[in-house]
Amino acid sequence: MTWPPLRDELRGVEPYGAPQLDVPVQLNVNENPYGPSAACIADIATAVAEASASLNRYPDREFTELRTGLAAYLNTDGGNDLTADQVWAANGSNEVMLQLLQAFGGPGRVAVSFAPTYSMYPEYARDSMTGWIAGRRREDFSFDLDHARDLLAEHRPSVVLLPSPNNPTGTALPHDVIGTLATLCAEHDGVLVIDEAYAEFRRSGTPSALELLGEHRNLVVTRTMSKAFALAGARLGYLAASTELCDALRVVRLPYHLSAVTQATASAALRHAPELLGNVALLREERDRTVAWLREQGHQVADSDANFALFGTFADRHAVWQGLLDRGVLIRETGPEGWLRVSIGTPEEMSAFRGALTATLEAAP
Ligand code: PMP
Repeated sequence: MTWPPLRDELRGVEPYGAPQLDVPVQLNVNENPYGPSAACIADIATAVAEASASLNRYPDREFTELRTGLAAYLNTDGGNDLTADQVWAANGSNEVMLQLLQAFGGPGRVAVSFAPTYSMYPEYARDSMTGWIAGRRREDFSFDLDHARDLLAEHRPSVVLLPSPNNPTGTALPHDVIGTLATLCAEHDGVLVIDEAYAEFRRSGTPSALELLGEHRNLVVTRTMSKAFALAGARLGYLAASTELCDALRVVRLPYHLSAVTQATASAALRHAPELLGNVALLREERDRTVAWLREQGHQVADSDANFALFGTFADRHAVWQGLLDRGVLIRETGPEGWLRVSIGTPEEMSAFRGALTATLEAAP
């Protein structure tokens, strides 16, 4: 017997996570570079202080105030009269998606996604003992509906996980593809999860899957406060779906999974939504500038609706990644072989990135 007595499939597996290095310019985990304003920090501090007075008690298990605030916010960004009972939240959208697989996946069931995509998806499947099938995207990272149709017919997945915009490519899904997939999933009682972690960064004219919720009872749209709301440290992810799907998740959540401190923090940040989302506009502009600059340098860059850009290709991408790191800029070695991903930071950080990339390629082309 090998000690500790891990499940066989967990033996030798490294915990997921990008390197957390103390580097001046951190552009590796798609964080928002703009911290909360002084007014927002003060509001969060007051709300947390108030919550602290009753920390001897368990928090509101149904987090009704927060769900109400999240529903109101979603109704400003594609949601159509969503109510608190059509919203669910947990500690990051990672936990939301794990709960989705705990509820709708499980032994004997299959979850599907399409590579290259977010590398946590197979881990949710493994941890919930759900079978895992990865289809593929086209060479240009666009979505291949014919391939998806075949894969769904063959495997009849109980859950399909699809980010829009996709990580790490930044590609958004067209509306008609989402609608068709929801209909295809419904044929075998499958749930379609559109992961909109980066939705607020989408280019104008790109719709949100929230608009389709009324038409498909098996559609789930997940969001997070980690990116646009600049609240990655608070761990608050959420989803919108039908009331019956939200209710089903209450069966698998741990009691009181959202602490009173988390609820107070997230509700206070929501009250500052206009200010926090103002920075999103700056990041969108900086993204478009970064993509244009990379293309001017002769690199291939995937069209991005997110707060990052995937660029390449490099014969030795690790050497390029290391060259940037040596110059104080941390980006991410992820995606298909030869590609690198850079998160969008402040204009100063992106200037450091451009300088470091130029210097790295001049030193070792
Ligand atoms: N979905 C996608 C596509 C992501 O890239 C991430 C984080 N990088 C998440 C979900 C999870 O984010 P969080 O748990 O912070 O909400």
